[in-house]
Amino acid sequence: MVRRVAVVGAGVSGLAATKWCLEEGLEPICFEQSEDVGGLWRYTDQAEEGRASIYRTVFTNSCKEMMCYSDFPFPDDHPNYMHNARVQHYICKYAEHFDLRRHIQFKTLVTKVKKRPDFSVTGQWEVVTQRDGKEEMAVFDAVMVCSGHHVYPNLPLADFPGIQKFKGCYFHSREYKEPEKFRGKKVLVVGLGNSGCDIAVELSTVASQVYLSSRSGSWVMSRVWDNGYPWDMLVITRFRTWLGNILPRALSDWLYVRGMNRFFKHENFGLMPLNRTSRKEPVFNDDLPSRIACGVVVMKPNVKEFRETSVLFQDGTVQDDVDAVVFATGYSYSYPFMEDDSIIKSRDNQVTLYKGILPPQLEKPTMAVIGLVQSLGPIIPTVDLQCRWAVKVFQGRRMDMCWAKLSLFFPSSLPRRYGSSTTLQTDYIAYMDELASAIGVKPNVLKLLLTDPWLALEVIFGPCSPYQFRLMGPGKWNGARKAILTQWDRTLQ
Ligand code: FAD
Repeated sequence: MVRRVAVVGAGVSGLAATKWCLEEGLEPICFEQSEDVGGLWRYTDQAEEGRASIYRTVFTNSCKEMMCYSDFPFPDDHPNYMHNARVQHYICKYAEHFDLRRHIQFKTLVTKVKKRPDFSVTGQWEVVTQRDGKEEMAVFDAVMVCSGHHVYPNLPLADFPGIQKFKGCYFHSREYKEPEKFRGKKVLVVGLGNSGCDIAVELSTVASQVYLSSRSGSWVMSRVWDNGYPWDMLVITRFRTWLGNILPRALSDWLYVRGMNRFFKHENFGLMPLNRTSRKEPVFNDDLPSRIACGVVVMKPNVKEFRETSVLFQDGTVQDDVDAVVFATGYSYSYPFMEDDSIIKSRDNQVTLYKGILPPQLEKPTMAVIGLVQSLGPIIPTVDLQCRWAVKVFQGRRMDMCWAKLSLFFPSSLPRRYGSSTTLQTDYIAYMDELASAIGVKPNVLKLLLTDPWLALEVIFGPCSPYQFRLMGPGKWNGARKAILTQWDRTLQ
């Protein structure tokens, strides 16, 4: 029987894990290598070893009603999209409100997690930690890995011939903090993800010229959607998901491409994704199209070769006098504390986790990897539900699961249309519903239609906000109904 649970990391995932262990009567100990909660959202001027690092001006891409913990809405007066400092403040408040800090051991690095010799019978783990140079080992019945996946930079320099000859400076976006030192310089940003776009736009306010190089293009979405409402409150709805599932594929793809091009034609801006219909995570940037239109950001194809002071691109064009290159080339995931990291990474470095959470080859389901899935939806509600599900599995309370039969399993909601990725790309509502169904907390829309039609309509046509998963079943929150019916008021406020 699982009782003691080790939680690795006190970012948003680790806090959810700690809270749900407590709710279910387990004894979590959360180990956090740094001095505070927040993980990625705790901004520091210098990147810290082993922890995600963000730039000073990171704002959220998910709005406050969609990205909160399911029983802890953001304060009414917060803007819909928030600066990282506000998110960090919210995370601290969450930890205080649920009294989570006393379960966290700060400045404690988890250095090793390994199966006990009798693992096949007990499912137990040995967890080695280091604090003030002192090492300790303890035995846990289960481990929740919440160490984040925006930590270890992916810097594929071998793909960029001539980079050793390049005389300017170059670095990974993880090291980028603010634009001032690039004033008057010519800067090339490589990579059209969220970080690449943000950094290119920010640099364009001080640099003499910014080039943004992309291998395969990307859909660029605005946070501000129809009539100025938050994009995610309009796009992430049950009704739209249902429509997307029943429409013929060709029609659904056509509508998708049309929707993505609603504000500007990507083709004309050099942004068009190579795979137009892939539902790969889009990029959110309200300013990039106008920066391109003003000529301060110039789109470029993939880099063919770096020279001493210039760069040759795949289309044969050359940019001279480039002073600096920012590689916004994403992250690789790594679990240096896992004695056998093939438990999480398997099959040619791809992650294959049951429901995007459990390593399937374990004899006992006593390890959960939280936060590794990626979808169009926000991360906090996703990890919140993942933790609820995982804790039920630890306790053997998942009705429909026979672990012994799951020797090799792909997450069933992993769709093909997301293309390859090192994280698990999935459809937000389908994934959330799948986890929620398994633990009996998926909102029963039919029942709601009969008993509370007003609420039912908001659940079907309104945003799929996190409160929906607290309306019924185990872990029901009495404030969920009100939170749903007042979500638009808070948005307008
Ligand atoms: P992290 O926040 O990375 O926390 C992991 C924690 O584990 C850290 O505190 C770290 O110190 C600790 N840790 C790691 N290893 C160890 C160890 N061995 N021992 C002890 N402690 C350890 N998501 C959204 O939903 N909306 C957004 O708007 C959004 N914006 C983003 C913007 C940027 C620039 C980036 C990079 C990501 C963004 N994300 C966003 C995704 C983001 O990853 C999540 O919001 C979230 O912060 C992930 O939380 P986490 O707890 O899983 O990991």
